[in-house]
Parts: sequence; C-alpha cells; structure tokens
Amino acid sequence: MKLSRWTLFVPEYPVQGDYLAYNTRTQAIVVVNQELKDILAGLPESRMSAAADGAELKENLKILEEMGIVVEDDEDEVQSLEYWFDRMKYETNGLNITILTTYDCNFACSYCFEEAVKKKVYMDLQTSKQVVSWITNVATKHRVHKIELVFYGGEPMLNLTAIEYISRTIREWAKERWVKFGFNMVTNGSLLTRDVVSRFIELGLLSVQITVDGDRISHDASRPFRTGEGSFEIILNNIVSIADKVKVHLTGNFNSSTFNNMLKLLDVLEEKGLKEKLASVNFSPIMARLGNNNGDGAPRLMEMGGCKAFFEEEHYQENLTLSKEVRRRGFKTSPAIGVNVCPVLKNDTMVIIDPTGIIYKCPSFVGHPEFAVGDIRNEDLNRRHVENMTMDLWKKCLDCPYVPMCGGGCRFSAYLRSGDTKSLACDRGYLDKVWQEYVKMDYEQEMKIS
Ligand code: SF4
Ligand code: SF4
Repeated sequence: MKLSRWTLFVPEYPVQGDYLAYNTRTQAIVVVNQELKDILAGLPESRMSAAADGAELKENLKILEEMGIVVEDDEDEVQSLEYWFDRMKYETNGLNITILTTYDCNFACSYCFEEAVKKKVYMDLQTSKQVVSWITNVATKHRVHKIELVFYGGEPMLNLTAIEYISRTIREWAKERWVKFGFNMVTNGSLLTRDVVSRFIELGLLSVQITVDGDRISHDASRPFRTGEGSFEIILNNIVSIADKVKVHLTGNFNSSTFNNMLKLLDVLEEKGLKEKLASVNFSPIMARLGNNNGDGAPRLMEMGGCKAFFEEEHYQENLTLSKEVRRRGFKTSPAIGVNVCPVLKNDTMVIIDPTGIIYKCPSFVGHPEFAVGDIRNEDLNRRHVENMTMDLWKKCLDCPYVPMCGGGCRFSAYLRSGDTKSLACDRGYLDKVWQEYVKMDYEQEMKIS
C-alpha cells in the first residue's frame, strides 16, 4: 500500500490529534488518528507494509483503499487519472442539454453576463423542431437512458411555446423508448406562478433555479424589471406559492458591497417559512463576463457574470462566511468542494443550444459565435470541440494535488486572463487558502454537527 498522491490532510481536526484525510479524486473524507496518519504519511512504504500485519490496521487500510485514500504499491495513479478523466469525457449514459429559448429578458440586471448579447431573439417553431431532431439523433446514436433538459435564457419563460413544444415532443419520444425524461429551468422567477408550474410538471418539470440577490433593497437594485420596478416581492411570493410543488434551488450573487445583504435574505427566507422547503441555497460572487466585440473582433472584458468556477479568490473570505452561515442556519446547500466537470471538456452529451440553433459548451461564451462548437443543422460538432476534447491540460499539472478537481482550470477564466482558451487557468494559490475550510464544512454537513 501507499498513500494516494491525491490525498491531503487537515491537521488537528475534528479534535486535537486527529486529521481529516481528503482525496481530491474520490472526494472521500475520513478521520484518522495520529498513529494511522503517521503510518499513512510518515513512514516509508516497507514499514507501512510491516505495520499492516496487525489485524485492525489491515482492516483500516482496506477501508482506506476502498475510499482511494491509499492505493496499491504498483498503481500508476497518473494512468488511473487519465482513465478516469476519459470516462467522464466520453461517458454517454444520459444527455444534459441546455436550451436558450430566447435572448430577451424582462429584467435589467446590473451584472447580466448576457447583457452584451441580449436581443429580442426568440427560438421559433422551425428551430424548435430542429432542436428536437438534433437531440433525439444524439440520444439514438449514444443509446442514452436519460435525457435531461435545462431551459435557460434571457428569461426562458418569455417563450413558453418553445418550452412546451420541445418538452412535450421529447417526452413522448422518450416514453416510447423507455428513456427517462425531465427538465429543469433557470428563471428569474417573475412569471413562475403555481398554475404554470402545475402545467410544467405534467410535461416533466423537475426543478427550478431562481436568483435572489439579497434583501428587497439590494435585490431590487441589482435585479429590477426592465421598467425599473423592483422584482423582489413578486419573486418571493412566487417561490412561497410553488415551493411545495417543485424543487426550488435558490441562488444569489454578491459583491463586496452587497455581501451583508445575503445574510438579510436568509432572515427573510426563514421568516417566510422557506428554510425547510427550498431544495438548496447557494451564493456566489459576481464574476467577469465578455462584452460586445469592440470593433477589432476581440471580445472585451466587462465586469461580471459566469458559471461557478475556481476564480473567486477576491471574494473567498466572504464566500466562506456565507457558506458557513447557510449551513449553520440549517438550509440545504451544495457540497463546498468537489469535482466540477466543465462541459467544455465533455462530449456532445452536454451542450448549450442558443435560440438560433448555434451550439456552445460554456454559458459564459454564449452569444459569441467565435466560441461556438456547432450548429443543430449539422450532426457533428466542429473542430473547436475536437481541440477542447483533446487539450488534456491537466498533464501539465502533475505535481498539483488538486488536479483531479481542477484539470487545468476554467476555460473561460483562461480566456479572460490570457486571451487563449487553451492556456492553464491556475488557481492553486486560492485552493491552498480555501480547501481545508471547505473540506471541514463538507465533513460537518455529513456528520450534521455544525
Ligand atoms: S469554461 Fe467550464 S468551468 Fe469555466 S465557466 Fe465555462 S463551463 Fe464553467
Ligand atoms: S491549473 Fe493550477 S490548481 Fe489547477 S491543476 Fe493545474 S496547477 Fe493545480
């Protein structure tokens, strides 16, 4: 046996003299005492084998091996990691397709990452039919067992016709073939009444994700209607009326000046009796986004927006405080640390289709055709997709313990930093700062001792 190269230790936790062993590939977390830690980390391999003669120790090592904390002496862990990455990249059990029904939105969020591409473009019936054909062709090619859609925008509910047509048609197609079907929605929540939710549940609605940016004052300042009116009251009322019918995942975006307002939002959610009803509550810092082409064809950096990735260094203390507070108060939430499969590095089972039928991989690149990976009028994805799938940046990072989780970093972040989506986007310094606290949070959540 040898210690896995991806195993890290949080010292003196949960009590003095104990350690949390955490494996960045398997995500296993386990408490080991000083003696076992010494055997795992401090002793040469030969003595480790000798020590393993004791029956109890043997049993412990067997459990640790199942968790990936230790591995066989002769395991080539880089080879195993390559196999594991490849399996994730090429896995074809299910489809996870995000569909933007429109670029239009009834909100004017101050940080909207689609502001630069927001137009009155709606997916029409012909495109909806082509979307259905593309999805069912890919599902047939891969013989998938499951199709899950995410309707997104702009505000997806401004185009109910596309949502209803696509979900109904694919649902029927899937039912005839014993393929599981369901859909989720990322919506601003302003149009999501109980009646609409009832109708959508019949079509396969599984969950909705709604963003609320703090208490009324802060939310209404950052997420007003296009007319300038506040949206907080309407959204909160809608959430209260639907939370017993469908899973509601609540997200919130903050920056340094609005951070405290997220705590006030937690008070409001508790007052409204939503703590037990919400499927999850997660807050994240507002991040960089791409702007319009500025004449020379190069997208320019604006201030905010994007998917949760590893570039939150500036706000890590605030992020930590909020994550702890959400847990302390007993809201359900996502794990603090884990493997993020970036869709850019996955095959055609995970794509984003815009209202015109252009296919993207990353939500932050949507609306910028120079980053598109295909078009629903063509069966195959393009050369950019092939480049993404084969770049294997993680091979440049073999001395880094975070490589199974990070894989070389977020491609959007890489572009913002260097103008090259194929360069490393390294946040090792940030991960060094946060990983212990995040592992502790996940351990406490698991043990329900927070
Ligand atoms: S490149 Fe990947 S990780 Fe980064 S924002 Fe896009 S989808 Fe998310
Ligand atoms: S990009 Fe940095 S943090 Fe990510 S795996 Fe490579 S060295 Fe580690």
